[in-house]
Amino acid sequence: MAESSKPDDVVRVNFAFRRELAKKVEGDLASFCYQCGACVGDCPATTYGDEFNPREIMLKVLYGLGDELIREDSVLWQCTNCYNCHERCPQEVKPVEVIISMKNMLADRGFIPPTAVKVIKTFMDTGRTAPINPAVDKQRAKFGLAPMKPVPMDEIHRLLEPEVEEGVTS
Ligand code: SF4
Ligand code: SF4
Repeated sequence: MAESSKPDDVVRVNFAFRRELAKKVEGDLASFCYQCGACVGDCPATTYGDEFNPREIMLKVLYGLGDELIREDSVLWQCTNCYNCHERCPQEVKPVEVIISMKNMLADRGFIPPTAVKVIKTFMDTGRTAPINPAVDKQRAKFGLAPMKPVPMDEIHRLLEPEVEEGVTS
């Protein structure tokens, strides 16, 4: 007869966290993850150390371990949004999109690292995530490319308005 599980052996899924994540864009896709690990091989963030692993992050989502992911020192900010995992995943889980949804949850709680705040401010001020200087156009000219066009800031601000109202960028 099989040994019965003691209460401590039982994995209890925190569905409250998963329900909150599912409300975000593509936040529910982790449900299709079958833990094959294909997303790990080409993930540049795994080379920073042994903290970041998209397969393990998807597993934590499946278990609903929100406290380990949504916290001030969250490992999620190590994701570069390169989308390699999206290309690799046979289940179309889009781990990067699930991670972006959780970054939005971090931002909702005010857990935004200073470097991300700096990028957001540069984008709000210039419409670009990195400042442009004359050297960029010089380099482009070498390759026969036209100078960078100005960014239509009125359109950018119109797009960002709801986010500003929600306090995401403050
Ligand atoms: S998008 Fe993020 S999780 Fe996916 S491969 Fe790139 S760094 Fe890794
Ligand atoms: S590649 Fe897709 S199915 Fe495989 S572990 Fe990563 S997210 Fe899960």
